[in-house]
Amino acid sequence: MRKVTGRPHEEVLQWAESYSCASRRLDSNITATKVALLFDHDLRMYWNLCALSRSKKADQLLAKKAHKLLFTTRVKIERQVAFAIFARLERYPEERKYLAAGKFFGRSLKQGLSLRLPLYSCKPTDSCSGACYAHDGLDASRASVVRGVFNGVLAELYERGNRQERDEIVKLLTPHCDSAIRAAYRELDKLPLGWQRAPRIRFAHVGEAAAYPTFSSAIAKYFKVKTNGDMACTVYTRHKDAVALPPSLFIVNFTLDRDSLGERKKWVPSWARTVFSAFDGVLSSEAAINFIEHHQNGYYAEPSGEGALCPATSPLVEEHFCDSCRCDFCFKVPEKGK
Ligand code: SF4
Repeated sequence: MRKVTGRPHEEVLQWAESYSCASRRLDSNITATKVALLFDHDLRMYWNLCALSRSKKADQLLAKKAHKLLFTTRVKIERQVAFAIFARLERYPEERKYLAAGKFFGRSLKQGLSLRLPLYSCKPTDSCSGACYAHDGLDASRASVVRGVFNGVLAELYERGNRQERDEIVKLLTPHCDSAIRAAYRELDKLPLGWQRAPRIRFAHVGEAAAYPTFSSAIAKYFKVKTNGDMACTVYTRHKDAVALPPSLFIVNFTLDRDSLGERKKWVPSWARTVFSAFDGVLSSEAAINFIEHHQNGYYAEPSGEGALCPATSPLVEEHFCDSCRCDFCFKVPEKGK
């Protein structure tokens, strides 16, 4: 984990405690660099807040307070970034094409090819809001935050667009989808000896595909058609609208944790697999698989209780990647929730 740079911990915390992101006007073309510069101070302070929350050397009381503020701080910034972009698009609608510049898809270390969306699309629980790896390493960087918002704006424009507007967005994203398909097949060339799996993509590595179900379905459909159905489109979600993600296109892993065993349990679609974030290591025997989440200082809790454990999050393995564990459980169609 990176060190906190440039700012004393107390100053970072005070900034976050009183933070309300001021709206800004984008007076030039929408580019990732210009947007990042417009929100430079806020994004850098958020980065410092993330580092403080994950620091082992900092006063742990300050680190805990920082942890609690991560989600709301990030979302406040993201919303103002989106607001500035939408305001600019109202004046110059043709600039939506700039949102598709750069890399629309990304990748996660653990699972490979993935889509990044804004964190404001999430409905977090008390446990996951600060623990989310959106606040870890490069996922908390200026470029990643801005990319997530760009993708979210495109998704939102698609959701509310008419047929012609939707077609325009698909046209903008087609080269990205084609290159993602090539990347998904390239991943297969690098698999460990003796291990085979389908090409795949994760929706979404940060943020919620279920918040943009029509947009996400259009992309997944493109992948399915272009790969003769080979591409596994896997969703991890905690979202109420997970039910809007069709099982013909998506493998849905609905994630619960100790704070979501009430109302949220009712949001699990009948065709989804139930998975469990065991932040404290206590496994759920009801879930198809448990993840020992490790977003706090690289710490892996000791698993306890009954339940199936994701090998990539086991404290016993050295390499925490699905392929090194030769596992594709989450990318296979669930059988009756398992
Ligand atoms: S259960 Fe398997 S596929 Fe799912 S995250 Fe763990 S290692 Fe990866």
